[in-house]
Amino acid sequence: MTTEVNTYVRYQFNEFGMGLKRTEVELPKPTGTEVLVRVNYCGVCHSDVHIYEGYYGLGQGKKLSLEERGIKLPVTLGHEIVGTIEAAGDQAGEIQPGKQMLVYPWIGCGECSVCKRGEENLCTKPAALGVFKPGGYSQYVLVPHPRYLMDLGNLNPSHASLLACSGLTTFSAIKKMGDVHDDEAVVVIGCGGLGLLAIRTLSLLGVKNIIGLDLSEQKRELALKVGATSVFDSSQENVLEAVLQAGNANCAAVLDFVGGDATVQMGLNLARKGGKLIIVGLHGGELSYPIPYIITKAISIIGSYTGSLGDLKELIEFANKHDLINLPIQIRPLDEADDALNQLTKGQVEGRLVLENS
Ligand SMILES: [Zn+2]
Ligand SMILES: [Zn+2]
Repeated sequence: MTTEVNTYVRYQFNEFGMGLKRTEVELPKPTGTEVLVRVNYCGVCHSDVHIYEGYYGLGQGKKLSLEERGIKLPVTLGHEIVGTIEAAGDQAGEIQPGKQMLVYPWIGCGECSVCKRGEENLCTKPAALGVFKPGGYSQYVLVPHPRYLMDLGNLNPSHASLLACSGLTTFSAIKKMGDVHDDEAVVVIGCGGLGLLAIRTLSLLGVKNIIGLDLSEQKRELALKVGATSVFDSSQENVLEAVLQAGNANCAAVLDFVGGDATVQMGLNLARKGGKLIIVGLHGGELSYPIPYIITKAISIIGSYTGSLGDLKELIEFANKHDLINLPIQIRPLDEADDALNQLTKGQVEGRLVLENS
């Protein structure tokens, strides 16, 4: 007698920071609007490191515990997923089994006013894949509705996985700037993965004056290569004056991909009257700034967290027209998920890591 094998493997952690464990679980049968997707590629993202460690730093040694924010153990990480449609519930409508799709992971409750407005990524009852629900460090992932599956167009699938988080986060932050005129400057603080992608996107969008800031000389050089007009060492003396001069004291927006005490402070000082400081980085810290300046300078301080379903659709179109993701990509087999995450935690990754489930 043979028994049908109805299980799949995922790499989950049962305690924060205590290693990813190969776990065999029962393969779910999609019901209702659910779609079962076989994972092909899943990006290993920096936020995975934060989720795995279980906290964000709040400055002065204080921590924001992710368990208190409702993340329940065990967790299967992975929110940058490209996979093929395997099966669907009877209310999922027409699906094309075998079709390769990008998964929108920032899923909300689907019912509240925020979700109805199309900002599911900001829902107070989040069900994000790889955070609150099992994600793509896995052979399969269950997606609650086909609307979260997006056609890749001509994109390379391993690169396209990065659009779901890094790409979307960057694109959504840039959209918050509004229109930038030719004589206005945009400052990008932090030229790591997201910062470089932002510079490249800004350049493709036709922004004329893009100023990059980073401590690392190597990253500043990369920033120039992908489209920065000028770059500065954020630790150099009189950096503020130098950047203001490069921006003709007309910095319409500052995109902060670090999000630490010093960078936020710098961003507030760089933005001109009516300018916007858009904070994306989760380095952590505390803000201390004279309130009257916020009013008299009419500065907007905007936190930007991932992006909406609509933003991702727009981004995929944009990426199909331009060679957006041209970062070095390292592909590793899914069963090396734990090692890959450690590699990223130690900062030993050039470009981006993507897991492949072959
Ligand atoms: Zn909601
Ligand atoms: Zn991410």
